[in-house]
Amino acid sequence: MSDHWWQKSALEISECVKKKEVSPVEVVESFLDRIQQVDTKVDAFTQVWSDYAVQQAKTLEKKIIKDEGEVGMLAGVPVSIKEVICTKEGFTTCASKILAGYRSPYDATVVEKLYNADAILIGKVNMDEFAMGSSTENSSIKLTRNPWNLECVPGGSSGGSAASVSAGECVISLGSDTGGSIRQPASFCGCVGLKPTYGRVSRYGLVAFASSLDQIGPFSKNAMDSAITLSVIGGKDPRDTTSVDLPLPNYAEQIKRGMDKVSIRIGLPKEYFTEDLNKEVKDIIMNAVKDLEKQGAEIVEVSLPHTEFAVATYYIICTAEASANLARFDGVRYGFRHADSKNIIEMYKRTRSEGFGPEVRRRILLGTYVLSTGYYDAYYLKAQKVRKLITQDFEKAFQKCDVILGPTSPTPAFRFGEKTQNPLEMYLSDIYTISVNLAALPGISVPCGLTQSGLPVGLQFIGKHFDEEYLLTVAHLYEMNRSQKLGTPPLI
Ligand code: GLN
Repeated sequence: MSDHWWQKSALEISECVKKKEVSPVEVVESFLDRIQQVDTKVDAFTQVWSDYAVQQAKTLEKKIIKDEGEVGMLAGVPVSIKEVICTKEGFTTCASKILAGYRSPYDATVVEKLYNADAILIGKVNMDEFAMGSSTENSSIKLTRNPWNLECVPGGSSGGSAASVSAGECVISLGSDTGGSIRQPASFCGCVGLKPTYGRVSRYGLVAFASSLDQIGPFSKNAMDSAITLSVIGGKDPRDTTSVDLPLPNYAEQIKRGMDKVSIRIGLPKEYFTEDLNKEVKDIIMNAVKDLEKQGAEIVEVSLPHTEFAVATYYIICTAEASANLARFDGVRYGFRHADSKNIIEMYKRTRSEGFGPEVRRRILLGTYVLSTGYYDAYYLKAQKVRKLITQDFEKAFQKCDVILGPTSPTPAFRFGEKTQNPLEMYLSDIYTISVNLAALPGISVPCGLTQSGLPVGLQFIGKHFDEEYLLTVAHLYEMNRSQKLGTPPLI
């Protein structure tokens, strides 16, 4: 094969497709080959829509040949979709036994928007069950491996999304981020992961985990592709009342325009650089800070004093919301139903006990507890108050800087089984990402180096509400001048 399409960006592919330099069918077929070669090792995909993907590409090819109307921003770009996002094609299982074989009667808004932008949906990818986890080990389907080291987890909960982009099995993937599930796996797998501001992207058709925190976002090779995808999937949706009616910029154009003008004041939160942070990760992040300083960025210290309460606050709020959201999976309407129960109560109990995995059951129990009479004030209400304090921390910090920089995760990817016995340790791997969801801010993880043992490290930029334009511009600027380049995983 002369062209290694899997190494190209979405921008490069869509431009070649638009200029008729390559047929989208050829592009898609090369990705299907790539999946066949590497997914036996990585196991990112839960469903590969080979025929359907070729069919989409042929339709696009006809449209381009006949010059029928405008060609979309993601023309011919192969995209994978996390199992938690509804698609009419294939199954939407949330990697849970309780939804095994479930077919959604409709497409999520983001999926409709991808089709409208002429992207090619190539299949669905693995995740932690109902997006609860940080390693994709909670999937009821299979384990997904980190393309940089097959003995390590890809992160989670969108581990399949991150691994599929990093392994070159697709160019863009959509994941969801409730407490770090886009940024942390992006950091572990060496790709870019963007969690937009809460309300920027419609959640219609995203199976709800914690509705006040969930947000859909893209995985990509670079910030520019992330910008293009956000312009495609973002915007007000009448079917999601929490989506916000603000103008949706053409982010890629804005990045190009803003590049030379941008002055950067970067805040480093002192609470993010303590002894909890792995020494090697810290050194790599500080190296990236130096790169940014060389580009003329001004570095200031900021403080986010309520950081130490973020994990506890998050696990009260997200479990409370999950316990309500997951009540609908009762064996009556969707998916799995326990076969031979004597009465309806037994049917509910056995369906839910057998249909949900241990982590999901733990969260439903915790969430029911924190919402119950007598505990509501002590836990749930208090957590809401701390959430407000965490939000105010960011507001104060942003008076001193335009963007906040820190690690995405305290460690690089860990080994399978390392944290499964201790849920608290697993929860702590989200320490730097969780506050961003609690404060509804946008955050992006960008690769910034490799450890001695060859594992990627990501840095996180956190932006102001609805200021993805600036966030993406800074991320892009950093990429242009980054001293340590990652390359591609040593897979094949
Ligand atoms: N790892 C976190 C959790 O287990 C975040 C998950 C997510 O963002 N969906 O809840």
